[in-house]
Amino acid sequence: LGPNGALHNKDCVKVAVNIRPLITAELLVGCTDCISVVPGEPQVQIGSHAFTFDHVYSGTSSSSYRIFEDCISPLVDAFFGGYNATVLAYGQTGSGKTYTMGTNYNAESNSIGIIPKVMESIFSKVEETKDNSEFLIRVSFIEIFKEEVFDLLEGISSTKSSLPHRAPIQIRETANGGISLHGVLEPEVRSKEEMTSFLSRGSISRATGSTNMNAQSSRSHAIFTISMEQKKSSHFSTATPIDEVGDDILCSKFHLVDLAGSERAKRTGADGLRLKEACVSPADSNAEETLNTLKYANRAR
Ligand code: ADP
Ligand code: MG
Repeated sequence: LGPNGALHNKDCVKVAVNIRPLITAELLVGCTDCISVVPGEPQVQIGSHAFTFDHVYSGTSSSSYRIFEDCISPLVDAFFGGYNATVLAYGQTGSGKTYTMGTNYNAESNSIGIIPKVMESIFSKVEETKDNSEFLIRVSFIEIFKEEVFDLLEGISSTKSSLPHRAPIQIRETANGGISLHGVLEPEVRSKEEMTSFLSRGSISRATGSTNMNAQSSRSHAIFTISMEQKKSSHFSTATPIDEVGDDILCSKFHLVDLAGSERAKRTGADGLRLKEACVSPADSNAEETLNTLKYANRAR
């Protein structure tokens, strides 16, 4: 987001709309589907309004596979090319942001969700290229709630019975006008399993950090960040320490953001390649918020 929240550089931002299926609770109270997708087109209609996006997914079982292939996989490639990438899930509470991102990761949800798939993809690429590159991968997992930043990875090694430590992280301005989050943990990870363990423990931390977890998770932004340093090493000079070869080091960050419910969300900014995923509920009872989300997502293009 640029100044005034305006998105710029059209080519860098792609907007995909993910319409989840009606859930049991909605069916039980007689909700019907109020969104239609124009077959073969990335276009949705709600009432008399029609919107076109980069992609539209309509809650079929293949949606999560296609979202990854169409929207996320190119970002993983760019990430390995040294670019920063961001995926934002935007939409009202209950529209499927957490489900889509995989921010409530646990053993049962397994590979559902974008974050676990990104991890899998990153480590399979690392495996493919590890003979001629060295990688240093770190993760952080923070939550922004009421203007304060909390480290979801803090205190996760302590016993489960007590609530995780909830002291806010200090936000500092850096000399070049950037923002640094003082003391946020950034553990190194060497496998997909290590990474998912931080995701799942951080997810628990998010869910239990407040006595009223639904209220909090719908009002907080959760940001899972994967940082990577890549050093190209040469097959032919293994005797030379890499530091002395003077090869380039590529540093990039991949931000995966499960935004607060858009019914009261604040906007958030990010650099690099961006993808905005707007999640919507198809239920007629949510039509007004869904229309707002689609209007906002449409402006984001
Ligand atoms: P949000 O994070 O936007 O508040 P959730 O991700 O918690 O919404 O989703 C709300 C409900 O809808 C949950 O019960 C979730 O399991 C269900 N849900 C969301 N997306 C899908 C989907 N694509 N397929 C099936 N159920 C879904
Ligand atoms: Mg959520």
